[in-house]
Amino acid sequence: PSNATVGEKEIVVAEVLGFCWGVRRALEIVRNAARERPVAALGDIIHNPIVVEQLTREGVLPVTDPVEAKRHGLDRVAITAHGAPPTRYQEASVYDLEVIDTTCPLVTKVQRLAQKLALQGYFLVVYGDAQHPEVRGVLGWAGTERACAAKSFDDLPWDGPRGTGAMQPPPRKVALIAQTTKRTDEFTAFAQALAAWVLPHGGELRVVNTICQPTWERQEALARLARTVDLVLVIGGRKSSNSARLVEVSRSLGTPSVLVERPDQLDPALFAPVRRVGITAGASTPDEVILAVIEELVRLGFAPPQRLWRDDDPDVEEFAD
Ligand code: SF4
Repeated sequence: PSNATVGEKEIVVAEVLGFCWGVRRALEIVRNAARERPVAALGDIIHNPIVVEQLTREGVLPVTDPVEAKRHGLDRVAITAHGAPPTRYQEASVYDLEVIDTTCPLVTKVQRLAQKLALQGYFLVVYGDAQHPEVRGVLGWAGTERACAAKSFDDLPWDGPRGTGAMQPPPRKVALIAQTTKRTDEFTAFAQALAAWVLPHGGELRVVNTICQPTWERQEALARLARTVDLVLVIGGRKSSNSARLVEVSRSLGTPSVLVERPDQLDPALFAPVRRVGITAGASTPDEVILAVIEELVRLGFAPPQRLWRDDDPDVEEFAD
């Protein structure tokens, strides 16, 4: 439904978008802490530069490690919503720093699962980006050399079906989990390819889909929307994994998509030929930024959207382990 009249340029907003419950929770924890006195954040609390700037003004100061926190005279460090490996907690303790833990409980569940699977003797494959803080944390909790992050078969430490050198048989027991913000369709395809490699060798493959509910809800809402619009505008940080996935979802459905962090990045020339623009936003994008982008689109000649989005509900028990 739209309140646009015939011939008008329309904005269609995804049913679910923007801040997830885990991000809202992390911000509340760190803001409450900063109200007492400044606190050091070990990295970006969430991957959105606007929020990081706001937090810095509120006394949440980004640092790279506990030593830097100490140098700034701070006595508390915040672990980000993406979580951290156990060594981070140990370092904080060595430097006598109190830990403000904003790790999303859904990420904590994945960390515990990784630890458990490693203890049960599985070789752990995390479908995700090896450089992303969440994945580094999960691998840290697995606490074993017999674990890796992989975005494709080529990343696996043993030769895969498309490997070139001598073919190594896979480990006897392999477990597959995912970075919480990956695409569900690609995870399923990766799991199927892994099964086709592990099972014929007589091995066991345990697959647990740990992609979080807010992530797939946003992907599904976008998939419903993408087919009905000329262009999808994803509002999100450049470092945000789930925002990047939203751009991919749209493009894989054949609808062009662009990512912007803030309203001043909208290129009027890009929107001139567009009649229906779809809007979505990553889980780390604040409401006010989404609203500011919509306002800017209205300034560029689009009719205001009739309907905005709904908030999602937490479901911490969403995947069984
Ligand atoms: Fe938690 Fe998922 Fe939000 Fe990440 S995207 S903070 S895992 S709810």
